[in-house]
Amino acid sequence: MIIVVKPGATKEQVREILDQLEQHGLTAHISEGAERTIIGVIGDKSRLSTDSLEVLPAVEKLVPIMESYKLASKAFRPEGMSFAIKDVTIGGRELTMMAGPCSVESEEQVETVAQAVRACGAKILRGGAYKPRTSPYAFQGLEREGLKILRRVADRNGLLVISEITSENDIAFASEYVDMIQIGARNAQNFRLLSAVGKSGIPVLLKRGIAETIDEWLGSAEYIMSEGNYKIALCERGIRTFETATRSTLDVSAVPVLKDKTHLPVIVDPSHAAGKARYVPSLSRAAIAAGADGLIIEVHPNPKCALSDAAQQLTPDDYKNLTNEIRAMSTILGRVYPE
Ligand code: PEP
Ligand code: MN
Repeated sequence: MIIVVKPGATKEQVREILDQLEQHGLTAHISEGAERTIIGVIGDKSRLSTDSLEVLPAVEKLVPIMESYKLASKAFRPEGMSFAIKDVTIGGRELTMMAGPCSVESEEQVETVAQAVRACGAKILRGGAYKPRTSPYAFQGLEREGLKILRRVADRNGLLVISEITSENDIAFASEYVDMIQIGARNAQNFRLLSAVGKSGIPVLLKRGIAETIDEWLGSAEYIMSEGNYKIALCERGIRTFETATRSTLDVSAVPVLKDKTHLPVIVDPSHAAGKARYVPSLSRAAIAAGADGLIIEVHPNPKCALSDAAQQLTPDDYKNLTNEIRAMSTILGRVYPE
């Protein structure tokens, strides 16, 4: 259930609602929008009769939420939720461009990519340090050293850092070095990890599980939000279908569906969906045309020598061409391309 608060309600009147909820063992999550304050109520509602809420002077209406996710639902923040990480806003009119290599391999490699993508509007540097590889014999990432490299390079180039973690044991260390944690497709329903990043309060890019429905994915977001961390962007990165021509099938439809169901910003990863560099520009254009709030793209100085995902990484030149197209499109779509 959500409680829509009357415009102009005083702090004391809102407090009265919160006290009522607390007395009945319910948890309140407050969303203060530009026009409306909304209170998301979590817990066993049978403990409280709706009448005792409806009589309170600050209550405009009570809206039941049928979905299993509540805080992630559009009703909690009808006007959409953007959030800031330092000087970068995710989910506003400006598109968010995140780019970098699949894996951090060396400081020189990351530096070359960072300079190239920063010059094309990227604000967030990606790079895998803890790599969730299908084979235990494949390159597993530089781990802590990888995060340190990302931080140094990002600071030199005025970028923020996003990197994946695969275990809750790494949150404390990673939080010293990254601005945003990526939860990868393989951990999209690792509920303990989701709750732990929720508790950490660090902004999260939550990838869609390889076979996760949109409602299940929003359930994953709810795990993070229910711990009080609302700084989440969802990342569509392709799902497994019967089609084998691409690595995964980019579900472009997920973008408008998510815009209907949730207030959370939507980022698209065309690289892991395509699996082949030459398809990445078309999928990027499709994602932005469908209403995505940004892209996360893999770029490597010399893709054919990459230690992971060699086939799908773009060269810096290819990335530049792609971003020129996205920049041109953004004006038509009423979006702002970042400089
Ligand atoms: C990645 O971003 O490098 C990655 C492993 O992505 P995903 O979890 O989407 O496969
Ligand atoms: Mn990758």
